[in-house]
Amino acid sequence: MTSELSAGEVLSGFVALVGRPNVGKSTLLNHLVGRKVSITSDKPQTTRNRIVGVLNRPDCQVIFFDTPGIHKPLHRLGNIMVETARSTLTEVDLVLFMVDGTRPPGEEDGWVARQVMVSKTRAILVVNKIDALTTDQLIQALAQFNELGDFEAVIPVSALTGQNSDRLLKLITERMEPGPRYYPEDAVTDQPESFIVAEIVREKVLRLTRAEIPHSVAVQVEEMAERDDGTTYVRANLFVERNSQKGILIGQKGSLLKEVGKMAREELEALFGNRFFLDLWVKVMEDWRRRPGTLARLGYRQDK
Ligand code: GDP
Ligand code: MG
Repeated sequence: MTSELSAGEVLSGFVALVGRPNVGKSTLLNHLVGRKVSITSDKPQTTRNRIVGVLNRPDCQVIFFDTPGIHKPLHRLGNIMVETARSTLTEVDLVLFMVDGTRPPGEEDGWVARQVMVSKTRAILVVNKIDALTTDQLIQALAQFNELGDFEAVIPVSALTGQNSDRLLKLITERMEPGPRYYPEDAVTDQPESFIVAEIVREKVLRLTRAEIPHSVAVQVEEMAERDDGTTYVRANLFVERNSQKGILIGQKGSLLKEVGKMAREELEALFGNRFFLDLWVKVMEDWRRRPGTLARLGYRQDK
């Protein structure tokens, strides 16, 4: 594509990453944007909000949306996730439909692919995790997934090792149009810092706990303030649904919660470049996932 850029213009546009949970969307976004903006975990559905990452190059700006995993909604939070993903598809200039090449196409991949086709937005098929595939397996995966829709391009990548990410980036930027830089050049995400802090704490909870906890925890940053000595003080509530979960999350003599705090603090200090003091409280709020008022208070929004 040849694009004439006027003064002040760059090639810019909005790109959505879609795919069923666990295919590697957050990992890819983090890799492309070059800084952690979206949490990753080996448990599905860790991304609830719509998180935007901004990739800046001298003549180009790409704004990424990491969508919540599309899945059959089981409760109100599930509905919000699906709606957010759907509206994202029609709003963007390009969709990256991501799949896990190490697993054969499943029902959910087909479902997501159909949403992408219905949206009529230009789409690229991204077959991820090729670091774990033999050549034969890769060829088979490419052919199988390609049948799920009509894609402008198909590209195998490894979000983990970065293999082929430069080729993917080229495919993306070729599809951007001359336009403004929508965000300041130093922007990485438009999420408030408190949201990133909450997501990092939640990620550590998911890492350190087993199946009982993951979908039942919400993190709310109640206070975030810079102290005189330069330390950022954060008080956050970790909401669980049942008393038994509260015990699990706190751990023996507070050991698990302490570890959550330690891991989150280390990551926050590396990310923001200053010292953090985390004051974490575990609270029980029964059925928080089914209460609309609570969802809004915890920052889960329904855009459309
Ligand atoms: P999301 O749910 O689609 O956002 O997926 P995540 O980015 O959270 O990744 C899910 C899991 O897959 C994590 O354990 C990642 O480390 C792993 N993963 C992501 N990309 C790759 C990849 O390219 N290769 C391999 N082997 N694992 C990957
Ligand atoms: Mg994710």
